Amino acid sequence: MGTKGKEIVGVDVNQLLEMLNKAYADEWLAYYQYWVGAKVAVGQMRGVVAGELEEHAGEELEHAQMLAERILTLGGTPLLNLQVLLQQTNCGYEEPSDPSTRKLVEQNIKGEQCAIITYKKILDFVKDKDPITYHLVLEIMEDEVEHEEDLEAILDDMNA
Ligand code: FE
Ligand code: FE
Ligand code: MG
Repeated sequence: MGTKGKEIVGVDVNQLLEMLNKAYADEWLAYYQYWVGAKVAVGQMRGVVAGELEEHAGEELEHAQMLAERILTLGGTPLLNLQVLLQQTNCGYEEPSDPSTRKLVEQNIKGEQCAIITYKKILDFVKDKDPITYHLVLEIMEDEVEHEEDLEAILDDMNA
């Protein structure tokens, strides 16, 4: 990153990089959980659920992309090792071993809630100190809030 670009980051960059890389790990796992969930889904509202999971998968991958770019700009490296990625995740990976649509939706709601909390912590950390990361994380968090809402609406429909 350029000299001034670095100067305006008013937080410990290594600590920020660690937080961003942990979120990056979450995004890859969320991507895979949604992507494979869409493939195996069976049961109630299967078409709707698979479509929504697939759409969210694409958005999580986009989040991973955004985080990777910010990590590189800050002088870091996105996690290269998948075992390390599995260790660094905040939100983990919920294996969709029960492919019923209801169970999948519940698992993914849990993941979104963890993501919202994770991004809120990063926002608080960089607030007034790194406007670029703040803006990027806010953008991602807006998607996560929408994801949670979409999935909860599906669950409501299932219960109606
Ligand atoms: Fe995401
Ligand atoms: Fe999400
Ligand atoms: Mg959606």
